[in-house]
Amino acid sequence: MEANNFIEEIINQELEEGKVTGVHTRFPPEPNGYLHIGHAKSLCLNFGTAEKYGGVCNLFFDDTNPSKEKTEYVDAIKADIEWLGFKWYEIHYASDFFDVIFEKAVKLIEDGKAFVCDLSAEEISETRGTLTEPGKESPYRNRSIEENLQLFYAMKDGRFADGEKVLRAKIDMASPNINLRDPVIYRVLRATHHRTGDKWCIYPMYDFAHPICDSMQGVTHSLCTLEFEDHRPLYNWVVENTGVEHKPRQIEFARLNITNTVMSKRYLKKLVEDKAVTGWDDPRMPTLTGLRNRGVPAEALKNFCEAIGIAKANSEIEVSYLEHFIRDYLNVHAERAMAVFEPIKVVITNFPETSEKEDFEINPNDETSGTRKITFSKEIYIDSEDFSLDPPPKYFRLKKDGYVRLKNAYIIKCDDVVLNEDGSVKELRCSYIPESKSGNDTSGIKVKGVIHWVSAEDCVDCEIRKYDYLLKDAEYAGQDFSERMNYDSVHVFKGKAEPYLKQVGEGKSFQLMRKGYYKTFDIDGKLVLSEIVSLKDGFKPTKN
Ligand code: ATP
Ligand code: MG
Repeated sequence: MEANNFIEEIINQELEEGKVTGVHTRFPPEPNGYLHIGHAKSLCLNFGTAEKYGGVCNLFFDDTNPSKEKTEYVDAIKADIEWLGFKWYEIHYASDFFDVIFEKAVKLIEDGKAFVCDLSAEEISETRGTLTEPGKESPYRNRSIEENLQLFYAMKDGRFADGEKVLRAKIDMASPNINLRDPVIYRVLRATHHRTGDKWCIYPMYDFAHPICDSMQGVTHSLCTLEFEDHRPLYNWVVENTGVEHKPRQIEFARLNITNTVMSKRYLKKLVEDKAVTGWDDPRMPTLTGLRNRGVPAEALKNFCEAIGIAKANSEIEVSYLEHFIRDYLNVHAERAMAVFEPIKVVITNFPETSEKEDFEINPNDETSGTRKITFSKEIYIDSEDFSLDPPPKYFRLKKDGYVRLKNAYIIKCDDVVLNEDGSVKELRCSYIPESKSGNDTSGIKVKGVIHWVSAEDCVDCEIRKYDYLLKDAEYAGQDFSERMNYDSVHVFKGKAEPYLKQVGEGKSFQLMRKGYYKTFDIDGKLVLSEIVSLKDGFKPTKN
C-alpha cells in the first residue's frame, strides 16, 4: 500500500514488522457541542485510514466531563457523520467503560502505583514544578495500599465533598514531562451524567480514561491532534501499567485552522448563546450542520480534506481554498437558473403581446441534464448591476442606445430610460432584434455583453441573502476571536426569480447565472435564495 502521509508510513512499517495485523481507529468527539469543519478533517483521517487498510473505525463519545455534555449533542454528532457518508463500526461511550476504568484504578492502587491525595487543586498545581524545576512530592504520596484502597472506595461511595480528594498516579515528580508528575486520574464530582445519571460521583480524567477505552475497543491507532503530543508518555504509561490486553498507539497530527473561521467549539457555543448567529446551523457557521444548511456538499468537504492532507505541523489554510472545492463540485452538479437582484423593469416595445418559450440549458457541464423551457415576454426584469446611466469606458452591459444580448433569447437595444422623480431608473424601453434569437442569429449584429433576465409574466418575488465571514481578518497573529467578530455579515436584497426556483421546493442548490451558487429556502411561503459560495474564485494555487 502506498503511503500518502506520515501516519500511513508508520502503519506500513508496523504491518511489515508484524507489530499490527490490521487497522482499527476511532473518532472521539466530546459531546459538548456540534462538530465543525476541523472535525471533518479528523473524521476523514480516521475513517479514511481504516477504509484504506480494510479496517474499521468506531464512533467513540468521550463523555468523561458530565457537566458540559448533552444527548442533544450526541444525536447531532451522529447526524453530521452520517451526512458526510461515513459508517462507524461500533459506537462506544467512555461512560460504558466506567466500571472497567474504576477496576484499572484499583489495580494501580494495589500495585502501589496510585494514591489518594488530599491536596486541593491549587496546591497540586503549585507543587507541580515548572519546565526547569522538578515538582514537590505530595505528603500523601506514601499512604499504604490498604489506606488508599479504603479511601478510594470511600470517594466512590460519596463520602467526600467535590474536590476534597483525588486519585493520583504515582509516577515521577521530577520527570521532565509535567504530565508525568503524579497526574490526577480521578476526581470527586457530583454532576448528573447524561447517560449514567447519578450512579457515579467520581469521574476519571481524560488522560486516564482514553487509553483504557481505546484498548477495550481494540483500537490500534489512536489519532489525535498535536496538543496531545506531551500527553503521549502518560498514555503509554497507562497502557503499560493497567494490564490492558490490547496496546494501542497514539499518533498526533496537525489541527486544521482556516482563515476568517472560528474553529473552537467553546467559541462557537458562545456565538450561539450570544445570539450573534441564529443557531448552530446558521449558514455562516463553520459547523457541519451550518455548512450542510448553507448548501455545502459533503463531497466538496471531503475533497478539501483530502487535498490539504495530514501534516505534523500546524498551519492555517486560506478559506478561499475551501471555497474553491465547493465551487468546483457545484459547477459540475448544480443546475443553472436565473434570478435578478434589485430588479429593473424592461419593456420591449416591439415584442408581441403573446409570450414565447425559449430553451434553457440546465447544466452545460452535465450532458444528460438537457434543457427546460423558460418564458420570454414583452416585459422582463434585469439586474440593476447590468444597467448604467453613466457607464464607464468598455461597459458591455446595457446603457442608453447600447446593445446587449439577453441570455438564451434576443439582442435588445435600449432606446429610452424612464426615470422616477428621485432620478432613479423606473423602467427601460427597449427594442429587440427578431433575427437575433440565440442559436439562430442571422442579425449580423456583434454584441460583447450577455446578461441574464426573468420574464415579468411568470417570475416570482424572492429575497436574496449574501454572507460575509463571521470573523474579520486578523490584525496580528493569534488575535482573539472576540476582537474579530463581524456583526454585519448578512446582506439582504430584493429580487425576482424564475418560477422554477420556487417550483423545485426547498433545499436545492443552483448556479444563479452570473451571480453565484445559491440554495432555495421557503420561509413563510416566500422564496429565499441563500448564498452558498460566490462565482469568483479567489484561490490562487501556488506554483511549486
Ligand atoms: P474544540 O477545541 O473545537 O472543542 P476538541 O478537540 O475539543 O475541539 P473533540 O470533540 O475533543 O473537540 O474532538 C474530537 C476529535 O476531533 C479529536 O480527535 C480532535 O483532536 C479532533 N479535532 C478537533 N478539532 C480539530 C481540528 N481543528 N482539526 C483537526 N482535528 C480536530
Ligand atoms: Mg476536546
